[in-house]
Amino acid sequence: MRIVVVGAGLGGVAAAVGLHRLGHEVTLLERGAELREAGTGIVVMPNGLRALDALGLAEDVRGHVIHAARGGLRDWRGRPLLVTDLVRAQQEGGARQEVGAPDMLERAELHRSLRAPLPSELVRTATPVERLESGPAEVTVISGGEPVARADAVIVADGIGSTLRAQLFPGHPGLRRTGRMDLRGMLPRPPGMAQDLLVSQLVDRRSGAMFGLFPVGEDRLYWFTDSVLRGTPPGADEARRQMLSLMADWHPVVTALIEATPQADIYVDPIARLAEPLPSFATGRIALLGDAAHAMSPDLGQGASQAFEDAAALCRHLARHPAGAEPADVAQRLLRYDAERRPRANRMMLAASRQSRLTSRTGVAAWLRDTLLRAVPSRLATRQLAALWHA
Ligand SMILES: Cc1cc2nc3c(=O)[nH]c(=O)nc-3n(C[C@H](O)[C@H](O)[C@H](O)COP(=O)(O)OP(=O)(O)OC[C@H]3O[C@@H](n4cnc5c(N)ncnc54)[C@H](O)[C@@H]3O)c2cc1C
Repeated sequence: MRIVVVGAGLGGVAAAVGLHRLGHEVTLLERGAELREAGTGIVVMPNGLRALDALGLAEDVRGHVIHAARGGLRDWRGRPLLVTDLVRAQQEGGARQEVGAPDMLERAELHRSLRAPLPSELVRTATPVERLESGPAEVTVISGGEPVARADAVIVADGIGSTLRAQLFPGHPGLRRTGRMDLRGMLPRPPGMAQDLLVSQLVDRRSGAMFGLFPVGEDRLYWFTDSVLRGTPPGADEARRQMLSLMADWHPVVTALIEATPQADIYVDPIARLAEPLPSFATGRIALLGDAAHAMSPDLGQGASQAFEDAAALCRHLARHPAGAEPADVAQRLLRYDAERRPRANRMMLAASRQSRLTSRTGVAAWLRDTLLRAVPSRLATRQLAALWHA
C-alpha cells in the first residue's frame, strides 16, 4: 500500500518506521527543514515502551534511558506527600500485573533513535501539507497548492496545532488553553545533589504551582515547572524571572537549578489540550495519530506514549495480507484502529486533566489533598499508577 505520514514528530516517525517495516510504500512529509526534536527531557511510560517494543523500536531507546525506581509528590519544601516505590511493588509480587518503570531520556535522543531505521529517501522535509483531497480510490496530498503525493492511506500526525484535524473535522472546537504554563530546562547534574528529590514533583498549595525533577542519562537533569498563566505567555527570560520569584522559598534546589540553567536551554509552553474529544480518529482512508488525535495536558507524561500506542495499533490493523495483495478495505481497517484506540486515548486525556486539577489546587482543597495524599499507602498509589500503564 502507498501510505503517506504527515508530520515527523515522535508519533509520525514511529508510525512511518513501523509501516515501512511491514513492507508498505511509505512517504513521510515534514514541514520543517530537517528531522529533529527540540526541547529537553521526556518520560516514556511502560505502556509507551511496550508499544515501541511491538514496533521493534525499543532496543535502541532502552540504551539511553534512566529508569525511575521511586517517584511521587512532595510539598514545596520537599517533604513527601505520596511516594510511589516501583521496585518494592515489583518485589512484593503483590501487584497482579507487571508494573514496569517510567523511562527518562532526552527528546532529541529519543527522536534520533526512532528515526534511525527510516531510509532517508522516504522522507521529504520542507513540505507543509495544506490539505488532503479524498477520492474513492486514493487520497491526494496538497502542499504549496500542488499535489505532492497520492496514497491509499494517509496518517495525520501533524501535532497539537494540526491544520489537517481542523480540515477533517470543521465542526470541532479545536484546542483549549488550560490556563497553565510550563517552563522546562535541562542542565548538567550538579555534584552532590540530593538523590531523594529526583523523579519528584513538588507542589505548593499556596500558589498551585509545581516543580518536577528527573535525571536524564548519567549526568544531566531535566526540570519543569507548571503554574498559572495570566494573560499572554511571557518569553523565556520573563517566565524564568517569574518562576524564581514564585519559588523563592521552596526547597533550595529548585531555584538553584532554574538559575543554573542556560537561558537557551529553557522552553516556555502555554498548555493546551483538545477542547473536546474528536468524534473519530479515522475518516475514509485517513487516520489521525498522536497529538493531532488526542492532544492532552502533560500532567501524566502520556502524550508520546499514547502516540506510540497509536502507531503500534495502526501497524497491527494495516498489516499486509499474506498474499501480498493490496487491501481494498483500508477504510474498514482504519475504523478498527479508531475503535481500538479512541476510548483509551480519550480516557487518558480525561485522566490528565483530572491530574492537572489535582496538583494545581490551592487553599483548603489543596490542604485536604495534601492530608489525604499523606494517608495513601505507597503500594496502593503505585498500583493505581500502574493501572494507567495497562490497556
Ligand atoms: C511541557 C510538555 C511536557 C511534556 N512532557 C511529556 C512527557 O514527559 N512524556 C510524554 O509522553 N509526553 C509529554 N508531552 C507530550 C508530548 O510531547 C507530545 O504528546 C508528543 O510529542 C506528540 O507527538 P506527535 O508526533 O503527535 O506531535 P509532534 O511531536 O508535535 O509532531 C508533529 C510534527 O508534524 C509537523 N507538522 C505540523 N504541521 C505539519 C504540516 N501541515 N505538514 C507537515 N508537517 C507538519 C511538525 O513540524 C512536527 O514535526 C509533553 C508536552 C508538553 C507541552
